Amino acid sequence: MKAISPWQLNVFRVTLEGPLKSRQKIRLGIILFSFFLFPVTFYYLSPYLIVQATSEGIINGSFIVFSLLFLSSLVLGRAFCGWVCPAAGCQETISRVREKRVLLGNWIKWIIWIPWISVIIILAVQNSGYDKIDFFYQTTFGFSVSNIYSAITYVFVLLLIALPSFIVGKRSFCHHICWMAPFMIVGRKIRNVCNWPALRLVADNDQCTQCQTCTNHCPMSLPVSEMVETNKMENTECVLCGSCIDGCPHSVIHYQI
Ligand code: SF4
Ligand code: SF4
Repeated sequence: MKAISPWQLNVFRVTLEGPLKSRQKIRLGIILFSFFLFPVTFYYLSPYLIVQATSEGIINGSFIVFSLLFLSSLVLGRAFCGWVCPAAGCQETISRVREKRVLLGNWIKWIIWIPWISVIIILAVQNSGYDKIDFFYQTTFGFSVSNIYSAITYVFVLLLIALPSFIVGKRSFCHHICWMAPFMIVGRKIRNVCNWPALRLVADNDQCTQCQTCTNHCPMSLPVSEMVETNKMENTECVLCGSCIDGCPHSVIHYQI
């Protein structure tokens, strides 16, 4: 049988890896675009406006978006965090210059989230629910930043997202502060208990050489090579970005539904 030349092997590798690397370029393009749109969209992700609207008996944009994120996580896990979130675009840009891994403190966001969601529930109960839907609540023609006050709020939120990445490390906002992540973590836990078909990572760990490339590529600082070795690919902090899949030189990790 004719031996495969190094050139042929290289062509094979390019064919195999080309689309995978393109996938990460597409992902980075999407989250960067989402970040540039953030001045338009940030009221639809606001943790404050949902409280204000609830006190007035109104279902606002962020109520609807957070509900959709929860529903999407029942099938797509935290794919929103990896593929769409504007905060991802901001933080992954910063992680190019500040690569420190974040290994502790994922519980901190729950200390923020539990009192916050409790206030929303209490207000909704006190008001006997909601009597109006206004997706564009407090926006001007759908735009979030439309005056000096919203511009100041926008800068404050931007600093809240960006500074932890500089000070603490990669995607620290997602690990420690984000009020949206818990909705998706809860949805993902429900999915895991019910075990219905959903997007997840799987690994053929007998092909793994423990080269650590996947661990180094993970924007969420997860110990991916360890996850592969122990065959435990489920992690509540995994945002299903696919960086480990596309970085692995032996195609060990895959998406599966
Ligand atoms: S990059 Fe691939 S081969 Fe390397 S440790 Fe990760 S799964 Fe194993
Ligand atoms: S484990 Fe893989 S898919 Fe999950 S966040 Fe890390 S790099 Fe992305």
